[in-house]
Parts: sequence; C-alpha cells; structure tokens
Amino acid sequence: MNLILLGPPGAGKGTQAKKLTDERGLVQLSTGDMLRAEVASGSALGVEAKKIMDAGQLVSDAIVIGMIDGRTDKPDTAKGVIFDGFPRTVAQAEALDAMLAKKGKKIDAVIELKVDDAALIERISGRFTCAKCGTGYHDKFARPKKDGICDKCGSTEFTRRADDNAETVKARLVAYRQQTAPILPYYQAKGLLHSVDGMAAMPEVAGQIDRALDGVKG
Ligand code: ADP
Ligand code: ADP
Ligand code: ZN
Repeated sequence: MNLILLGPPGAGKGTQAKKLTDERGLVQLSTGDMLRAEVASGSALGVEAKKIMDAGQLVSDAIVIGMIDGRTDKPDTAKGVIFDGFPRTVAQAEALDAMLAKKGKKIDAVIELKVDDAALIERISGRFTCAKCGTGYHDKFARPKKDGICDKCGSTEFTRRADDNAETVKARLVAYRQQTAPILPYYQAKGLLHSVDGMAAMPEVAGQIDRALDGVKG
C-alpha cells in the first residue's frame, strides 16, 4: 500500500507516519528529513536547500522529485511507502503519478490531516526530536516519560529545527495554502482523498486513519 500524508507544517504527519511504519511495515519517505540530511552532510544541494528552508519556502520541484525517484527504486519500498511532506505542489503530484506508473506502482490513498493555524503554531513551537534515534516529542503534548531522556533509545541529546520559529512558520503556512492545498482537489477528483480531524489527540487521529484505510486495497 502506498500512502500520502498531507497537511500543513506541524499537523502531525511525521508522528502518524512513524506509527504506520511500526504497525504496517511501510517505509516512511520524508522529503524534509532527506533535505535535512543533505544540509547536515554539507553537500552542494544541502547548502542551496538550507537557504530556502530557512526562509520557509519550497525547494525546487526538480530536486525533491529526483530524490523520491531514486529512493522509490530501492527494494525496501516494495511493500509500500508513506510519503510524508511530498508531494507539495501539483507538479510534484503529477510527477509522482508518472514515476510510480513507470515502476508499476500507484498511490492507494491520500490522508489529509486538518488542523487549525493556532494549533499548528503551538505544535511547531514545542516540537523537539531525539538527536540519536529521531523520535519526535513535544514540550506539552508528548514529553519523554523521564525528563531529558529519550523513551526509545535513552539518549539525553535532543534537537530543535532551525525553521521551527514563529517567523518562518508563517511563511511555511502561506506556502502550504498557496502551493500545496491545490493538490487536495487533484486527489479528490481521483477518489483517493480521506480527510481526518487532526485536532484530536494522537491516538484518536491514528484511529481515524486506521478506519479510513480499512476500505482501501493495496
Ligand atoms: P509534521 O510532520 O506534520 O510537521 P509532527 O508529526 O512533527 O508534524 O508534529 C508536530 C508536533 O506536534 C510534534 O511535537 C508532535 O509531538 C505534536 N503532535 C503531533 N500530533 C499531535 C496531536 N494530535 N495532538 C497534539 N500534538 C501533536
Ligand atoms: P513540515 O514540518 O513543515 O511539514 P518538512 O520537514 O516536511 O516540514 O519540510 C521542511 C522544509 O523542507 C520545507 O519548509 C521546505 O523548505 C522543504 N521541503 C520538504 N519537502 C518538500 C517538498 N516536497 N517540496 C519542496 N520543499 C520541501
Ligand atoms: Zn532516542
């Protein structure tokens, strides 16, 4: 089964993608994570992407399409993929359909997480991640069981994203509305769109996604 998790920054895409990965054996493909790895490696692509990410804008379609094309050739994606943060423009959605068709694959469902702006800003400003294993946390909504220690791996080092600040978040929300929201009707027209109430607590959102996927073959 190949899924897309769609929603504004901070909606809970990464959180739900990790859960689906654990429960359904799907591979999470996050273009944001891939781009941050490029930034950390200091590659030419990373240096270029960092400026755009820090401004809260979208990197070029060609770059992310190229990354996803290469990644979906790897054998670990055969059982299914969760696209997290991709596609983000209609051009990316069209390119994804074309590239999957060439590989004999397709998108089986698109899950939209609906969250209002005030909640997004609160979620993003409290977000942090284990530096070692990548588990996501939140100052208010998802604290580690023991303060300062990762539940999953025991690490005591955490990171906060450079672009998770009030000013950049505003630009990211504008980019979502202007460039990403137009892909909702694209998938609606294909009968693939399932919208869930992303304002609910994490387990409830997961339950809604499970119910939406019950009827989906793939
Ligand atoms: P995205 O990948 O869409 O940007 P994340 O999954 O990183 O979003 O979630 C953003 C922040 O909000 C994280 O700190 C996460 O722990 C928290 N979060 C995710 N889902 C919920 C929820 N349903 N209720 C409250 N907080 C949430
Ligand atoms: P979010 O928490 O906003 O959903 P991501 O980790 O998905 O964040 O993305 C972080 C940044 O990486 C974006 O603001 C954008 O600059 C860049 N980015 C990630 N995915 C894409 C994409 N599919 N197309 C263009 N830019 C992207
Ligand atoms: Zn950890």
